Amino acid sequence: MAEEYTRKEDAVYDIYQRFADKDIGECPFCQNNEPKWLYREEWKLLGNNSVYFKCPCCESELMVPKDDITGLSFSKASSSGKKKARQGKVMNEPYVTVIKIGFEYKNAKNMLLVGEEMTVSQLKKRADEMRSV
Ligand SMILES: [Zn+2]
Repeated sequence: MAEEYTRKEDAVYDIYQRFADKDIGECPFCQNNEPKWLYREEWKLLGNNSVYFKCPCCESELMVPKDDITGLSFSKASSSGKKKARQGKVMNEPYVTVIKIGFEYKNAKNMLLVGEEMTVSQLKKRADEMRSV
């Protein structure tokens, strides 16, 4: 079941909101440094929920697995952690998939990021490199 995008203004207790504002922070595409990320969670019957984040400024969308936000997947004791280890991923880093880049900020280069999964810091670095001049 897909929910609508929301934002909880009292974000202190909201782990997804806090992750978006602190760990993603600046939008990698429109570079708004405090975009007030919106999010929605997609429930999976088995395994790891997907949490989608949307920048309300440029409409770019990102997805981070729930267990990468809560940190459950940082340990091989969890099934999502075992999967990460099998895939050779960095255990204690959240991985983000680029779902969509806002139309105004899309260019021939950064379009290549859509559908790709990487760490948040890799995404920021690559988005910087691919910014049209
Ligand atoms: Zn943005």
